[in-house]
Amino acid sequence: MNRATSDTQQEAALKEGLAPIMVWVKEVMDYLIQYVLGFADMQFQWSEEEALDPTSQQTILTSYQKQGVYSINDVRAKLGEDPISEPGANAYLIFTGTGAMPLEQVMEPPQPPSSLVPNDPNAPKPDDEPPKPGETVSKHAHDHLHKAFEPLTSDEVKVRDAFATALEVVRDAAMKQASKLGKVAPAGGDGGRNYTPDEITTIADEFATLLDTSGLSLAFEDYSDTIQAVTESGAKHEVAKLIVTDPDIATTEADAVAAIFGGKDPDAVKWAVEHAAEMLGKDGAGGALEQTTRNMVREAIAKAMQDDDSLTGIADMLQNTYAFSPERAELIARFEVGNAQMKGGYAGALAVGMKAKKWLESNDENECPRCHANAEQGWIPIDQDFQSGDAAPLAHPRCQCDAAYRRKLPEN
Ligand SMILES: [Zn+2]
Ligand SMILES: [Zn+2]
Repeated sequence: MNRATSDTQQEAALKEGLAPIMVWVKEVMDYLIQYVLGFADMQFQWSEEEALDPTSQQTILTSYQKQGVYSINDVRAKLGEDPISEPGANAYLIFTGTGAMPLEQVMEPPQPPSSLVPNDPNAPKPDDEPPKPGETVSKHAHDHLHKAFEPLTSDEVKVRDAFATALEVVRDAAMKQASKLGKVAPAGGDGGRNYTPDEITTIADEFATLLDTSGLSLAFEDYSDTIQAVTESGAKHEVAKLIVTDPDIATTEADAVAAIFGGKDPDAVKWAVEHAAEMLGKDGAGGALEQTTRNMVREAIAKAMQDDDSLTGIADMLQNTYAFSPERAELIARFEVGNAQMKGGYAGALAVGMKAKKWLESNDENECPRCHANAEQGWIPIDQDFQSGDAAPLAHPRCQCDAAYRRKLPEN
């Protein structure tokens, strides 16, 4: 075997061994870039450097040394040589046109950045402690920017557009239904008369019950597919974060980790399928979103009739009501996608043997008693619901909370 061949084979073996690690690092970096830093349209990419030959290694090491990144002993350590004790061997030196200069003379020691974004009110609190071994780094992940100002991710856009279209179809059905309303409801004098509160309730109830919500079925496929994909990726991201602080997981829970990174996490998929069905029937009938739509319409009709004392304002109201609006479609998308991400994280943490969890309140949500109560509980067993009844965040639309997981409940 000639040298070239053996080099190539060694490189190939290295690459094969590295591939899963590289995939995992990319997952972690993508999570940090897209979810923590909020650059939803950016991703991590490996630039694949070939193995270093001695000449390029020398160039790299000396250039680091000349820029004060490595000391002479740092460079020796990288070369496998013992440190030397000569003066300056441990100094960090900047090589300028006039010669070498100790780093501390070149500039003041840099101030640690107070936050990623200067003067950001949502910047990490200074009292945030660094994660302890075994504690996940997600403790810090809630220090992200206010989600309401973040652009929608492509997943959120897909769900939003699906619901915007579906809600428009339901609105058209509601308008059509409203046009018949005057003919069946008790007629008033000159196109308007006072309805009693009981009559208003009855008309609003009937209208909401008869409302044709089958248009919602148009959103079902995009919605349920996206929720499933996001839940699986939420599991991957959480497990990637857990492995960062607790690398043993990769070996002790190798099968679960492999299933999750292979995109075959049965628990995440199960949650996503069940959740999608709870939220929306395939044919647009049944599910929480259908129920909420009817409730919103019922309330809007009752309100319009109380304000107007007639049926004349209903069509206008339906045209503009929040229930069918693009804003609602966006709220649904943000919540459903964010929630799926978190619930996937929970499924992933469970799958790799985590036993304890903690609700991490968002900095933006200090006023929310429901989430605050969850956070006050501290570490609880992973299979127990938080006080709000949620197994994991999110607790409600606009909730920005996060969760941390660990192997054990802390003693005390
Ligand atoms: Zn809350
Ligand atoms: Zn919350």
